[in-house]
Amino acid sequence: MFKVKGFAAQSATTPLAPFNFERRDPGPHDVQIDILYCGVCHSDLHQARDDWSNSLYPMVPGHEIVGRIVRVGAHVTKFKAGDLAAVGCMVDSCRVCEPCDAGLEQYCAEGCTLTYNGYARDGTTLTFGGYSEQIVVGQRFVAKVPENLDVKAVAPLLCAGITTYSPLRHWKVGPGQKVGIVGLGGLGHMGVKFAKALGAHVVMVTTSPEKGKDALRLGADEVLVSRDAEAMKKARGSFDFLLNTVPVGHDINPYLGLLKLDGAMVLVGALTALEPAPLGVNLIGGRKTVAGSLIGGMAETQEMLDFCGKHNIVSDIEMIGIGEINEAYERMLKNDVRYRFVIDMASLKAA
Ligand code: NAP
Ligand code: ZN
Ligand code: ZN
Repeated sequence: MFKVKGFAAQSATTPLAPFNFERRDPGPHDVQIDILYCGVCHSDLHQARDDWSNSLYPMVPGHEIVGRIVRVGAHVTKFKAGDLAAVGCMVDSCRVCEPCDAGLEQYCAEGCTLTYNGYARDGTTLTFGGYSEQIVVGQRFVAKVPENLDVKAVAPLLCAGITTYSPLRHWKVGPGQKVGIVGLGGLGHMGVKFAKALGAHVVMVTTSPEKGKDALRLGADEVLVSRDAEAMKKARGSFDFLLNTVPVGHDINPYLGLLKLDGAMVLVGALTALEPAPLGVNLIGGRKTVAGSLIGGMAETQEMLDFCGKHNIVSDIEMIGIGEINEAYERMLKNDVRYRFVIDMASLKAA
């Protein structure tokens, strides 16, 4: 075991503060990573504050991790000391069930091991995430980082990136399709970039008209303000696909109305109950689909990073020190982030 410094929430109501803990020494298949940058996901905030009623404390959040490998186990073949490496939302899974076998470890039949707010496979050791100096992870759950990308802006790809890339690929979004990305935050801004790179006609569907210019700069072809009833009415029945990143339960009917025959809306944001609302006629009328999607498997995560390397895609970030994390959470709650906070982990030494 070795000592690590991090930032943790001790309960749902306490702000994040310095916290010392221990990590295991790397086993034969593990790598030890010196964390350089960690993105701040809205899920960090949800979990630190127990919004999903499943939080385990103390909690060291952070699942958008980029760093340099400092030690590798004897059987590690994929990495060597000095390599850039990235870790996302999970650090292990059963590895033998059908989903794991298919490279869909996030849907592991026994539940994947979350990077934080979870238990290791022993069922008792709490996992601690990326708001910390170092992390130890089995090589299967570590991705390679394309060297041509700005490493600070790569961190958010490990959650915001893969969570939007995976459904866009699974539902085969591409040229000739009109695709709406609902919510311009960390996930949404990556959704716009990916949908554009995949060749779709991209519409930013937002509650914030003031983000319109940014949406166009990020690659959207059009902006649709969801609070503008007239504009929503005009857009009815015109979308092939919607990726909904709204972070809270809400009435999805206005969005469903945007879909055309056989259109699909994939929810990635709202993990809590959606507002009770009659869906039947809205779905049945146009043979529509409502689906959900959870991050992405390790093979697809690597595919996404390689795609980003090829198309020069990274996140638009605002860098913060770890001491500013509580303020960053408050700003995220007010939709005041353009479009992902990333923590410079060097700031931890002074904190
Ligand atoms: P974020 O940066 O806070 O962005 C969310 C955006 O949603 C906001 O910028 C806002 O965009 C819009 N929004 C906020 N409140 C809204 C409301 N009441 N009604 C309509 N739109 C609203 O959050 P994020 O990091 O992108 O995360 C989004 C959600 O995805 C979170 O709930 C997170 O936990 C979840 N998540 C899921 C997965 C998964 O695997 N499924 C992975 C990562 C995160 P506009 O101003 O443009 O309206
Ligand atoms: Zn996340
Ligand atoms: Zn499994």
